[in-house]
Amino acid sequence: MSLLTRTRSAELAERAREITPGGVHSNVRLAGPSVFFERGEGAWLYDEDGNDYIDYLLGQGPIFLGHAPRQVTDAVAREMRRGSVFAGQHTLENRAGELFLESVDWAEKVRFGVTGTETDQAALRLARAATGRTRFVRFAGTYHGWLDNVLITTVDGVPRPASAGQLSRHLDDSYVLPYNDTAALETLLDQDDDIAAVIVEPVLCNSGAILPVEGYLHRLRELCDQHGVVLIFDEVITGFRLALGGAAEYFGVTPDLAVYGKAMAGGWPVSALAGSATLMDLFADGVTHAGTFNSSVPACAAVVSTLTLLREDPPYGRVHAHGTKLMDSIRELAVQHDLPLRVQGLPVAFHVSFGSPGSILDHAGLASFDLDRYAAFSHTLADHGIWVAPRGIWYVSAAHGDVELSATLERLDAALSVEAACGQ
Ligand code: PMP
Repeated sequence: MSLLTRTRSAELAERAREITPGGVHSNVRLAGPSVFFERGEGAWLYDEDGNDYIDYLLGQGPIFLGHAPRQVTDAVAREMRRGSVFAGQHTLENRAGELFLESVDWAEKVRFGVTGTETDQAALRLARAATGRTRFVRFAGTYHGWLDNVLITTVDGVPRPASAGQLSRHLDDSYVLPYNDTAALETLLDQDDDIAAVIVEPVLCNSGAILPVEGYLHRLRELCDQHGVVLIFDEVITGFRLALGGAAEYFGVTPDLAVYGKAMAGGWPVSALAGSATLMDLFADGVTHAGTFNSSVPACAAVVSTLTLLREDPPYGRVHAHGTKLMDSIRELAVQHDLPLRVQGLPVAFHVSFGSPGSILDHAGLASFDLDRYAAFSHTLADHGIWVAPRGIWYVSAAHGDVELSATLERLDAALSVEAACGQ
């Protein structure tokens, strides 16, 4: 297979750099190859040079139904003709909320927002208000948005601001513990009685798609109960993807609050915070949560049509089976090419990197991966028509099928040949 050429993308990228810093509107995109996409359809992306790509990045996760799902785009277009924001109420809000609560059935109330970043902040504020306490616990390698109190990098196990201009004092209100280590949490909760919340990505998707060890999430639940701490699941990646009810349903553990985003609205920007009525009603009793675009007409139309699709024809079994086949096939191809490619995680969201075999339990375990080599390889994959994240996560959508699988394996085979030749 010949490598893709992207002359038009290169020209557009040059112009983009004159317009916006780095040519991109989200720093996450700086690490990827510069490709200008013309459109997406199902599991495929098409660039301005006429190349096609099988998409395993899925817009960083939202495209769980595939690109431009007909029912969602039709519903959004139809409903938007009535207007987009009213600064008042409308019936689609109720319908979206009802469908949401029927899907995330442990939750009693929901508030819609726009991004995961801001909704994580709402969850933390609510936990503080409910407990009258200050601090929260999070885990190394999780991502809870780009704001000052949650953006971290860990250097030799010590949390540090990850960005220039970020106030390090905002990190003083959180503790960063290793994921999958209940003893560390037990000790901390015994020592500090000013902890309002524990916030966790139930599967560590932002660091190697690391799964919780048996009983870990249940133990978090118990410890939070014992210490009167609010347990927050950050389900921005896992929500509506692992199962209709997200990780809470998949692992059978009920948090006090959970934050959703990405997969819940067929590609439209919508987030949600859900929880018990007692906690959530604090938003009508002194705790501020606001947003001009919260529960806009198109957002609610996107939620209603997406959740209707997910409920009427649940794709979870199919996606799981497809992802499992894909994970196995990637492993087999890597063996054929004698390359140490590691594939781990869930079939809907797994991590690929170069490294030695064996399981890792936390963020520190990522040190056994050659992340830079994989980041470079992700560009090779793009050159062969496979669109993936440089950080190693692969997402599988309901639109991936047999055609995509065989095309992927053919393209991956060619990319691995290039990699194997480079490595010699
Ligand atoms: N939480 C998690 C677990 C995420 O993965 C992300 C984004 N990747 C966020 C929060 C932030 O969401 P957003 O980009 O919509 O602000």
